[in-house]
Amino acid sequence: MSEPAPPAPADPSFSVAPSNGGSTEPENPGLDGDPVCQRIELDETPGHECGVFGVYAPNQPVAHLSYLGLYAIQHRGQESAGIAVSDGDSITVVKDMGLVSNVFDDKTLAALTGHLAIGHTRYSTTGSSTWRNAQPFYRNVGAHSFALAHNGNLVNTEELAAEAGMLPGMVTSDSDLVAELIEQELARDPEESHDHRALERALMKVLPKLEGAFSFVLMDEGHVIGVRDPHGFWPMCLGKLDNGWAVASESPALDIVGARQIREVEPGEMVTIDATGVRSERPFELEKIDPKLCLMEFIYFHRPDGTLYGQGVHAARVRMGEELAEQSPADADLVMGVPESGIPAAEGYARHSGIPFGFGLVKNRYIGRTFIAPNQQMRALGVRLKLNPLRDNIEGKRLIVVDDSIVRGTTTRAMVSMLRECGALEVHLRISSPPYAWPCFYGMDTGTQGELIAASLSVGEIATFLNVDSLAYLELDRVKTATGAHGAGFCDACFTGSYPVDVPVNLSKGVLDTDRGLAPADPAPETLALLFENESLLPVDHAKIDQAE
Ligand code: SF4
Repeated sequence: MSEPAPPAPADPSFSVAPSNGGSTEPENPGLDGDPVCQRIELDETPGHECGVFGVYAPNQPVAHLSYLGLYAIQHRGQESAGIAVSDGDSITVVKDMGLVSNVFDDKTLAALTGHLAIGHTRYSTTGSSTWRNAQPFYRNVGAHSFALAHNGNLVNTEELAAEAGMLPGMVTSDSDLVAELIEQELARDPEESHDHRALERALMKVLPKLEGAFSFVLMDEGHVIGVRDPHGFWPMCLGKLDNGWAVASESPALDIVGARQIREVEPGEMVTIDATGVRSERPFELEKIDPKLCLMEFIYFHRPDGTLYGQGVHAARVRMGEELAEQSPADADLVMGVPESGIPAAEGYARHSGIPFGFGLVKNRYIGRTFIAPNQQMRALGVRLKLNPLRDNIEGKRLIVVDDSIVRGTTTRAMVSMLRECGALEVHLRISSPPYAWPCFYGMDTGTQGELIAASLSVGEIATFLNVDSLAYLELDRVKTATGAHGAGFCDACFTGSYPVDVPVNLSKGVLDTDRGLAPADPAPETLALLFENESLLPVDHAKIDQAE
């Protein structure tokens, strides 16, 4: 176990000499002359974790409710989707690769009858993106069967697999491993337990062994169970239906099925829902309970219409913009947000500064995270496929552009170039979070540290690279203040390098893949001069452009 050394401290803000305002063509470094189709990342923002949903509602169409709940949290994972339903006697699982709306149709949902269900949308963090790793996982042992869905990432997967005597290839993801551990515990329980609470007992034994981030929903034939790890990295809330209960990663999933949010499931809590109502248990030692909700949920991940720590997420993002305006003012004619997650903070910045708020970029709502480009000319269009400028609002103006984060910087650089081409006189970039310099090991896909521009460059160097007139990041204390959750615990490891749970140095997405080689070492930090001399070294080339099949 080890913690990486901290990066060179970065200034919170930086201004550069007035730009020449000239245009810089959007670039796709290192691709010139490459005749092969390539998959281009249009969205640099980190990939979400996963979304989970569970419902217990006699005489209700629980498969349809699960479908709606998953639909509301589709942004948390778009690789695969699945629903497991029980009618009290047996569990049926339907899952496949793709979006919720691709996997399920009326016919599929109509066949899933029962009174309790769980569902999952997946973004892979440990384990590759394949059907085998789609969730919920189903297991049957003797008289017991259960299904499991997981949001998060364990950091002791390899040790647990070794302890349990599993051979390489027996399980393919950390979620699969937990299902296997539960199955082993159930195998030790009497064939027909008198109280039908065998799954709860198995969880009370397995959960304390897990290290890392995990929010689970599970079910057997008669119970739905929701669990959060002792740090509560990823959110989960509990809602009441007229005739039942639901749990979900985010509260808008409760809203859409007509459930009233009662409360958040607490860090280290396990809630079990059955015919008798809801009961709460604590599988973890008291001293392990230490709330560390992912701060990025407030900044970017979570739907703006939800709540975290009892605070509205949209309002918190507006306050981040207000804090940013107070911390790093600039003279300008217009404040604009980068759609869509930069817009609430831009609204706050405008309100606090008194500078008019307006739209400068329009987002193509139907674009995915990637597209396939056959040649260099089309690759150069990448950012334009996602964002198109509103020339009337840009030409001849000094702009304050607000975004929530910068990951690799290449998309931001192309966006700034686009604004200058449209006649922006000045571009002052304001980011409503601190420099993002450390990878996440708890369930969010940022790639390696070498892919994060703030891990290698100072704020001043980033400003130069992006070709902005000034750049400022919101200080960490101000971000936390803006959440409105005073005194609450947060994970802020991707900004500070201070990881609440130690991570093994070799932890990677393919930790359980049988054909994996050694995890590639992070490239040494490049200097700015080297980057500009040889653009093939830019962070985007390290991982995010894959050969198309
Ligand atoms: S490292 Fe960052 S993204 Fe990961 S849980 Fe912590 S705050 Fe969230």
